[in-house]
Amino acid sequence: MTPKQKKNLIRIVVAAVLMIAFEFVTLTGTAKFFLYMIPYLIVGYDILIKAARGIKNLRALDEHFLMAVATIGAIGLALYIGGDYTEAVAVMLFYQIGEFFQSYAVGKSRKNISELMDIRPDFANVETENGFEKVDPDEIEIGTEIIVKPGEKIPIDGVVIAGKSALNTIALTGESLPRDVEVGAEVVSGCVNINGVLKIRTTKLFEESTASKILDLVENASSRKSKSEEFITKFARIYTPIVVSCALSLAIIPSIITGDFATWIYRALIFLVISCPCALVISIPLTFFAGIGGASHDGILIKGSNLMETLSKVETVVMDKTGTLTQGIFDVSAVHAKDFDEKQLIHLAAHAERYSTHPIGISLRGAYPNENDNCDVEILEEIAGQGIRAKINGEIVSVGNEKLMDAVGAEWKSCYKAGTIVHVAIGAKYVGHVVISDVVKPTAQFAVEEMFSSGVKDVVMLTGDSEKVAAQVAAGLGIKNYRSELLPADKVSELEKILDAEKNSKVAFVGDGINDAPVLSRADIGIAMGAMGADAAIEAADVVIMDDNPLKIPRAIKIARKCLAIVKENIVFSIGVKILCMVLGAIGIANMWFAIFADVGVMVLAVLNAARMIFNA
Ligand code: ADP
Ligand code: MG
Repeated sequence: MTPKQKKNLIRIVVAAVLMIAFEFVTLTGTAKFFLYMIPYLIVGYDILIKAARGIKNLRALDEHFLMAVATIGAIGLALYIGGDYTEAVAVMLFYQIGEFFQSYAVGKSRKNISELMDIRPDFANVETENGFEKVDPDEIEIGTEIIVKPGEKIPIDGVVIAGKSALNTIALTGESLPRDVEVGAEVVSGCVNINGVLKIRTTKLFEESTASKILDLVENASSRKSKSEEFITKFARIYTPIVVSCALSLAIIPSIITGDFATWIYRALIFLVISCPCALVISIPLTFFAGIGGASHDGILIKGSNLMETLSKVETVVMDKTGTLTQGIFDVSAVHAKDFDEKQLIHLAAHAERYSTHPIGISLRGAYPNENDNCDVEILEEIAGQGIRAKINGEIVSVGNEKLMDAVGAEWKSCYKAGTIVHVAIGAKYVGHVVISDVVKPTAQFAVEEMFSSGVKDVVMLTGDSEKVAAQVAAGLGIKNYRSELLPADKVSELEKILDAEKNSKVAFVGDGINDAPVLSRADIGIAMGAMGADAAIEAADVVIMDDNPLKIPRAIKIARKCLAIVKENIVFSIGVKILCMVLGAIGIANMWFAIFADVGVMVLAVLNAARMIFNA
């Protein structure tokens, strides 16, 4: 609890005790008035000040104004007809209880987000002539060598050039398992170095680094408003003036006709108290805020309330295979050379893939231990969905699938072995292939089941890999619907077909961000996985999953569904109760206590309902 919240809680308790105690005091007239002014002002002075400020700034019609007018009116009426002041005090009291709840709940979800915000690095250690110096990470150029000591945050993305350590990535991914890194490993900012000293060569500027990107994203998330929130803002703009004019007419017209001012002014005041739209104005943004906060705590970044709303309506999930459902770490399971040396085949393939970020490229590079021999390598082109062409020691080497072989006119041979086949050709001469196989992620099958159980109707797998591999992976995961041998552009058109067929529901695409950016941005909602370090993915996607656990997909969908369910409950509940009570108030059935319940009770219940999003999102 913040000091301000503590202070407000004390005010609420003191005023409540006084209000109850004064019930047993038998005073009348102005003495009673002054007595009740004590708890009233204790609990309500700030509301009165805010209302006065609102009037001064000509934007009077907010909830403070409604509360001030209603309570002052009730006090005036009680003074005039010698009535009871408890009601006025109680209106303020319960209003403050509602405010207290709200600020507590907002504080709680802010805290969740700020735990994620804890990834903000403050300094980088740079070696100079006088030893280490702490430098503002903003000033570090690409390629600078920095030192990260145990317990410190990695300030900028880079590559480890000396040292060995474990990294705590919980602030980024929500996973508490430490990640071991050693020389050559890519590290991203925001992770905490646990035990060893690491020397890192930076590969990005501070503002381009993962931590900065994520902070930006989360800070801007709540500015992208959902339809529900827009609805509420518009609603409040029309609603408040209407309610105030209704209250005015209720106070004036029947009073003139019947001559009974006290009754009708009282009813108008009740009407005003009931009408306060705070439950909606407060609880709906709070629900989204809490939902986004809770999700980010799990390493799921949702870029705005509008996307939370879209995500909640997803019925079809289209997924990429490599790196999304499978680990994207390939083992070489066979090398079949054709009139060529096997070692030499791997050697050429590894060189061709020297700079590739594709999982296949990384794996082939890993299969050849002697990267830095003196071969002369020049990469010609990497063709998405096909493979790569390079000039190695003067010869053109093509490494990729059948499509690439056809393109260079090499006569490729099919293979009986299960796995992804990477063919190699020198010029137009086919020299053989490497069989590599990928492993399905351990949680992938469960993730597919969970998606179905969270209400997703169809899961579709798209892949550039061969039909054989695709069929095998899909069968293993319980995915009936899949398409194989797609080029990146084919993935877009397949997705478009699905989008056309599913006009009434939303379609999500999940990819790893490597050559999937066009599909990610074409889908109703693009989800990028394993985004630690891959900024293309962070940018193109609407939802970013920091680690590569597919279980986070159904989790994200569930969070969004729950969030929207709460929003809907609150809209229906608050508007329903309010309208009912306003009618009852106008015809004289509901008294002030009833009004208090309708206003503050609804608000507290709505906020509590919204808070479910924080406590067990
Ligand atoms: P996925 O849809 O499974 O993610 P991609 O579209 O990334 O697959 O790639 C499709 C196919 O293109 C791969 O299965 C592989 O045959 C070939 N390919 C793509 N990039 C490379 C590369 N760098 N080296 C070799 N083959 C590649
Ligand atoms: Mg891919």
